[in-house]
Amino acid sequence: MSTNDLIKKLTAEMEQKYGNNKATSQTPVQTQAPTVSRVPNVKSNYIGIYENVEDAIHAAKESQKQLIKLSMKKRNEIIASMRKASLENAEKLAILAYEETGMGRVEDKIIKNVLAAEKTPGTEDLYATTYTGDDGMTLVEMAPYGVIGSITPSTNPSSTIINNSISMVAAGNGVVFNPHPSAKRVTSESISILNKAIHEVGGPKELLTAPLNPTIDSGKVIMTHKDIRILVVTGGEGVVSVAMKSGKKVIAAGPGNPPVIIDETANIKKAANDVFRGASFDNNIICIAEKEAFILNSVYNEFRNEMIKNGCYELKRHEIDIVTKEVFQTNEQGKTVVNRKYVGKPAIEILKACKINSPQDIKLIIAEVPETHPFITVEMLMPVLGMVRVYSIDEAIEKAVIAENGNRHSAMMHSESVTNLTKAARALDTSIFVKNAPSFAALGIEGEGFTTLTIATPTGEGLTSARSFSRIRRCTLSGAFRIV
Ligand code: NAD
Repeated sequence: MSTNDLIKKLTAEMEQKYGNNKATSQTPVQTQAPTVSRVPNVKSNYIGIYENVEDAIHAAKESQKQLIKLSMKKRNEIIASMRKASLENAEKLAILAYEETGMGRVEDKIIKNVLAAEKTPGTEDLYATTYTGDDGMTLVEMAPYGVIGSITPSTNPSSTIINNSISMVAAGNGVVFNPHPSAKRVTSESISILNKAIHEVGGPKELLTAPLNPTIDSGKVIMTHKDIRILVVTGGEGVVSVAMKSGKKVIAAGPGNPPVIIDETANIKKAANDVFRGASFDNNIICIAEKEAFILNSVYNEFRNEMIKNGCYELKRHEIDIVTKEVFQTNEQGKTVVNRKYVGKPAIEILKACKINSPQDIKLIIAEVPETHPFITVEMLMPVLGMVRVYSIDEAIEKAVIAENGNRHSAMMHSESVTNLTKAARALDTSIFVKNAPSFAALGIEGEGFTTLTIATPTGEGLTSARSFSRIRRCTLSGAFRIV
């Protein structure tokens, strides 16, 4: 069964079990994960988790030395075992992530875990290159860095660990993670499961490690430690700029604020369904998810009506102000920022907090606002989609570029006009540009290509894989080894 088929099957199963993506009066949408007794007492039996971050670095270093002595056949067995264990534990880790962080939706987190387990490339990504000619032969191979320091976000905790671990180990590295403190238990559990899977097939014991209580200080130790060869940072603006000052090579997967454009040539019914599914997936905490929409006036009303049919609640004019006051705050620098209390929370919970009545099966809040409204300008990470009415494709593109805020992260567009699609893709200049599909198509759900949960936007690697975590080494033999 292909991964897309598997994900479709899983989606159907998860909808049956935890809720339904479609808004109907008979099928209420899950807003809180069920209380589950299957999650084990995660305090016991961690593998690779240390009180002291120095010990965590040392353990990963020793295990990495053993890994590179093993054959590539063995490394492939290790990766296969990591995939299997991740699939077996996809549901448990999704529930654990939801229970610990209080963000997102269990059924979508399961899909993210399965996707990371199945579609993260392994050692096949490390293909070598050769050059031959009159002067002999040159071989270029992908080598490990050693131990990687990986800082991971609260928004995709287990799926980022699965994805980073497969990519980094496939490239021959060990990893010390510094997870978000609010996701430390699910991270420790994910690391333990993967370490066990590695060891079971003859790999080293603790290739993946982390401090038991990650903090900004443990992050600093990792960022400045002599045995950490490279940093991989998946998170917001703050952590990216701290890591950039470390003096080490950084692969940075920073924030986004992806716009979606809908022009008058689009299949509006499909566009609305795609935008609805992308923007409501995991309550919009994924960095690539549609975060604001620019819609041509001629199709605006039709698009809005279709969004409502799919399961959106449209805020009335006075309700926009109420929700704005509730979900935003002003920080010490006078900047409008999100109230973290609402990050990743279900739409109906946000409406309830604002004392706005709505049907129980609402998954996404929409509102018509000007392009200067914080629903458009701020990366909200919650199921609220600001929609801007525009009067030409050029106006849509210009406003989308401003909203994307120079992150060069992700953008989506629904259009049948190759000219408009091309113009927008060029102007937006993002690492990801999705045409006529939900945002998650870029990660390999209903779209081709491999997956990653670490999209390196500021440093330019784009969708990371084993190759991104490899040193490029060249060996030249002059005057010989050519066979023709
Ligand atoms: P966050 O920035 O609050 O935290 C990310 C990680 O950085 C955590 O481990 C945190 O403990 C650490 N951190 C934060 N400030 C730090 C500092 N000053 N020094 C050292 N470590 C620090 O982000 P989050 O809320 O967990 O995740 C959401 C953010 O991450 C969003 O902005 C989202 O767009 C981004 N993100 C990007 C990608 C991508 O692939 N580009 C993927 C997931 C999330």
